[in-house]
Amino acid sequence: MTNKILFKYIDHPDQDKIATYIENGGYLALRKALKEFKPEELVELIKKSGLRGRGGAGFPTGLKWSFLPKNMNKPIYLIINADESEPGTFKDRQLMEYNPHQLLEGTIIAAYAIKCHLVFIYIRGEFAYCAQQISRAIQEASSHGFVGKNILGSGFDLDIHIYRGGGAYICGEETSLMESIEGRRALSRQKPPFPAIEGLWACPTIINNVETISNIPHIINNGAEWFASIGMAKSVGTKIYCLSGHVKRPGNYELPMGVSLRELIYEYGGGIIDDYALKAVIPGGSSVPILRADEIDVKMDFESLAEKGSMLGSAGVIVMHDGTCMVAALQKLVKFYEHESCGKCSPCREGTNWMNKILKRMLAGEGRPEDVDLLYDVASNIIGNTVCPLGDAAAMPVMSFIRKFRDEFDNICGGGKPYGTISFPFR
Ligand code: SF4
Repeated sequence: MTNKILFKYIDHPDQDKIATYIENGGYLALRKALKEFKPEELVELIKKSGLRGRGGAGFPTGLKWSFLPKNMNKPIYLIINADESEPGTFKDRQLMEYNPHQLLEGTIIAAYAIKCHLVFIYIRGEFAYCAQQISRAIQEASSHGFVGKNILGSGFDLDIHIYRGGGAYICGEETSLMESIEGRRALSRQKPPFPAIEGLWACPTIINNVETISNIPHIINNGAEWFASIGMAKSVGTKIYCLSGHVKRPGNYELPMGVSLRELIYEYGGGIIDDYALKAVIPGGSSVPILRADEIDVKMDFESLAEKGSMLGSAGVIVMHDGTCMVAALQKLVKFYEHESCGKCSPCREGTNWMNKILKRMLAGEGRPEDVDLLYDVASNIIGNTVCPLGDAAAMPVMSFIRKFRDEFDNICGGGKPYGTISFPFR
């Protein structure tokens, strides 16, 4: 079996055009779904497949769909979260650019399954080309009768709108994203109520990630058992791993869930640039706890990384070589979260600012020995005390960098020079 499902036609010219997509078996899953399945049966099929969200949390997709209230006299909305903003993550962008119809077909099937008639595809503001690709794909699909009234004679009606993101990291958080669609500043909402009960305009809403939904046509075509047989027992299917940083061959790699981190870096990524030694890896996007070089014999799936004290997250794998200064690398990350904090809650608003100040002080050679504990203390007071996950996202790297590389922080605060070349893989 080829490893590739979502990227199967990645080298095929014109896969983004509807004629080629159909020639390669596209929209057969939609025909099958509308003809052979009732909406409730599709929800059960996706539950059985074991598909879990690819945006970061890994929540079971079919289960999420089943939380929608039954017989409610309100419209149901589906939002495709295409606001990919986590540093180190760039898979959804490629999926939208190279194969927009795969996402669209999955979207139409998902909408039919949850009885939704209006979908929003929320695309990150900076992704102009993705928006262009998806917009063209919607027009092509409409002209073929896959979107609009009475799709393929099934009696099912669906409109799909593109909404361009507000240009902030927080817009990718689901409640902020809904605020943004409703025309307000993207400030997070307190949960509960959860979106499936009270989401967009206080109506039941399902929010799914681009990669998650792109899997749907393949599950319909090949069956739930087929999908569940790929990867690991609880983390099934393939995953697109975004490999970046100090590797020879950075890029997106679609592989079965559970590939080892070592294999990903050394076989697929070609090893470390300029023959440096590996120092550390962030395995799931910038917000997840870092791993040391001696921890890379771990399988890249939800459970195995959790056992190692980290997370699969968005599978944005950021590799750092031996010449990296961990204090400088951390300051770069913290600066990002400080900038992106929406300011609604004080632990995140003030805490990210304090952490950045302390790290800048350390790098300027003005750190005090007690600053390392102070920094850790600030982070531990942010975690779990904020309205949305951005607070945790900012605090987790700080705590894990200090736990794993404490000697570097102590050294710089004791008058030592920064370790390495202060070269780091973040923009
Ligand atoms: Fe805003 Fe940060 Fe609070 Fe989230 S955690 S609501 S980003 S201040």
